[in-house]
Amino acid sequence: MIFGPDHRFRGFRAGRFFALLAVFFVFSFGGMVLLVGLDQQRVLDATMRLQDQTVSEIIRHQRLARNLEQLRQEGERVFAASTPQARQRAMFVVALVASHPSVLEHPKSAELARQTEMFLSNALSQSTDNAAILGAYYEEWGRYAARLSVLVDDVSIQGVNLVNTDLNEVAATMRLARYKLAAALGLVGLFLLIFLILLRQHLIHPLQVIDRTLSTLNVDSPPPVFDPSAMSEIQAVEEAIGELHASLLENETARVSLELLANQDGLTGLYNRRHFMSLAEAEVVRAQRYQRSVVVGMADLDNFKKLNDTYGHAAGDAVLRALAALMRDSFRQSDLVCRYGGEEFAFVFPESSQAEAHVLSERFRRRCASFDILLPDGREVCVTTSIGLADASESSLEDALRRADAALYEAKRLGRNQVVLAEAMTPESGA
Ligand code: GH3
Ligand code: MG
Ligand code: MG
Repeated sequence: MIFGPDHRFRGFRAGRFFALLAVFFVFSFGGMVLLVGLDQQRVLDATMRLQDQTVSEIIRHQRLARNLEQLRQEGERVFAASTPQARQRAMFVVALVASHPSVLEHPKSAELARQTEMFLSNALSQSTDNAAILGAYYEEWGRYAARLSVLVDDVSIQGVNLVNTDLNEVAATMRLARYKLAAALGLVGLFLLIFLILLRQHLIHPLQVIDRTLSTLNVDSPPPVFDPSAMSEIQAVEEAIGELHASLLENETARVSLELLANQDGLTGLYNRRHFMSLAEAEVVRAQRYQRSVVVGMADLDNFKKLNDTYGHAAGDAVLRALAALMRDSFRQSDLVCRYGGEEFAFVFPESSQAEAHVLSERFRRRCASFDILLPDGREVCVTTSIGLADASESSLEDALRRADAALYEAKRLGRNQVVLAEAMTPESGA
């Protein structure tokens, strides 16, 4: 990973990160299993040794101890025998035991057995079967007997120690194996815990945030902001969501300006005729459903052709723009105003009686008549407007507009620069 202006840190790739984690886990867990396996092998070896060697060693030691004990007892019998035959028999057994292979293969026992046999045979030959002379050797025999007893004990203890050593080694190895197994299980648990924490922190939690962000993403929501993510895949998705939001905003801006273009008149910025008709239709329907009053109007600039001819078409355009601004200023926010075509305009006065609409129209007509419009060439002109109004609360929009147009025609006929109510027109004076 490289930091710097040209090398932005892109985070870890999730796949590589989890592969590294898996490799680490396999190696560490595999190592522990190997160690436990080695311990198990040592336990098996010690058990096999106990079976194959130690048991026979114990038997050998027991046999040796029994022989040494018999040697001592037979020696005792040499002194205790009441007849020369019995002493000879005991001496024969002493010689037999002293030359037994189990005694000969144990150097210390072999040496003591040899000395014991020599002492006894020497004592017998010196005493020439005289019990009284033999008795003089008994005290020295006591020392041989004591040494034999000590050796019997030593050999027995050696046998027991052999078992203890092997059993202790097996127990120690098993204890160690148990600790290592516990450590391996602990390692697995720790790894799983770390894995789950990392999984939650770097994948599950960011995915939940992404899910929430996507489900609420719209043009009205602020640009999505995410906590810095360590995973490059998550970063890529978050960046894509940011770009998606930006393009949503761009599309919305384009849609709004297209809608404006589609609904507005290019010269004056007022509603165009098509959009006005759909809004006016809805307004008239709504007023009739709730039995509210609504008035429509038509306006036409007086002698506009002459103005165009005198000052030029550009001047005529400037006048149209200026009067559109004056209309917006003179009527209420809720009134609909549109450029109906050429130098004709149409209005809808919602929630208004004819008298109220008349007051509003009259106010505009007066302001228009006294309004000096500054032309691009610096000259000033003044135009007047004729307006026709008609009630639309009980007729269709088309019919009301047709009657307003007739009233407008009547206003022209009566000399221009005036407002005429269609309902006030007499049948004779109507269109
Ligand atoms: P009247 O009082 O009877 O309405 O007289 P008028 O001269 O206004 O008569 P008319 O309505 O027949 O003339 C409309 C003129 O408006 C004709 C045309 O040259 C002019 N006109 C229409 N649209 C535009 C426009 O967009 N810009 C300019 N400058 N003039 C326009
Ligand atoms: Mg005109
Ligand atoms: Mg006209």
